[in-house]
Amino acid sequence: MSDSAELDASDPLAAYRSRFLRAPDVVAYLDGNSLGRPLAASRDRVHRFIDDEWASRLIRGWDEGWLDLPERIGDHLGRAALGAAAGQVVIADSTTVLLYKLVRAAVDARPGRSRIVIARDEFPTDRYVVEGIAAERGMSVSWIGAEDAAPSAEGVTAEALAAVVDDDTAVVVLSHVSYRSAYLADVPGLTRIAHDTGALVVWDLSHSVGVVPAELDAWGVDLATGCGYKYLNGGPGAPAFAYVATALQGSLSQPIHGWLGAESPFEMRQGYRPAGGIRSLVSGTPPIIGMLAMQDMIALIDEVGIEAIRHKSVALTSYVVELVDELFPDATLSTPRDAARRGSHVTIDREDFADLVPRVWAQGVIPDFRRPSGVRIGISPLSTSFAEVELGLWAMRYPGA
Ligand SMILES: *Cc1c(COP(=O)(O)O)cnc(C)c1O
Repeated sequence: MSDSAELDASDPLAAYRSRFLRAPDVVAYLDGNSLGRPLAASRDRVHRFIDDEWASRLIRGWDEGWLDLPERIGDHLGRAALGAAAGQVVIADSTTVLLYKLVRAAVDARPGRSRIVIARDEFPTDRYVVEGIAAERGMSVSWIGAEDAAPSAEGVTAEALAAVVDDDTAVVVLSHVSYRSAYLADVPGLTRIAHDTGALVVWDLSHSVGVVPAELDAWGVDLATGCGYKYLNGGPGAPAFAYVATALQGSLSQPIHGWLGAESPFEMRQGYRPAGGIRSLVSGTPPIIGMLAMQDMIALIDEVGIEAIRHKSVALTSYVVELVDELFPDATLSTPRDAARRGSHVTIDREDFADLVPRVWAQGVIPDFRRPSGVRIGISPLSTSFAEVELGLWAMRYPGA
């Protein structure tokens, strides 16, 4: 088995770990894909914001930078992690609400088509939003995959998508990285298949943004959204981001018309007219405090480079797979063995795992449980060491009382 001390010693990104805040009673944090650790810089930024901006600038702050923070942070995220040129990414709402806005806008842009395509094992919020929109618009949902399929490492392949999309499909909703299996989808390939039938695609990047490089412009992506509190370390309930390709911006209309996504909002005029560009995705007042911490992580991703982060993520998840093979030969690896098809977490399934997780949590080892029987080992590359992974997996193999 590889030696975690050697792997840490030769890790060029090891020093970045000290930039994150950690509590001594958490010895192995393996759930950075649910909620990233805070950066020390974010603690300072939040303090500074309250003293120097909120308390002292008060209402004047809106004119001094708060109002266009959603686009400014969006542009930085686009540049550092999404392969998106300026003017296409905005921070707002939650992933759920942005999914609703994007899918509704996409459906309305394909009038006469009556189906929305999504996978059976897609994240719940994505399925619920799609089912809700289908009911609202008198459409139907076409599912990829069987309803009661066992947990598997397989995700949405070209064949699986091609079998379901057709010229009655308005929109396809897909995840870049599956929340359960970590299967890494072929974004440009699947997008092309949907486009060939005339459908639009909404990509959910919640489990890839910040750890897996994306090239949204080059891949021909229409629309995307993703989470701000996972690998973007924005903190609990941090807002999400949305990407709308420039080519689509003039022709799409999102359904929640609010004053701060309108043209010249302070003229308070009759009748909604959307602001130009990506700003029209905004509805109400931007959640400024919620956007503070993610700025530090986006800056760090920019500093380190998304390719270097991906490289360490692959090394860490490969090490997890090696440990799983050694320590859990009787569990099912429900994540692709091929690193090129894997995001930044590893899921293993065994019938008795539901009992295991609370026991290791009590020891300060924090993986995640996903029904029916999966332990999910999430790897946030810049805040996780190889030694932490080794310690965590040994604790899971021999859990305390
Ligand atoms: C985490 C996650 C979300 C989160 O949605 P919120 O509304 O921001 O809570 C959505 N989709 C996927 C695939 C996720 O993994």
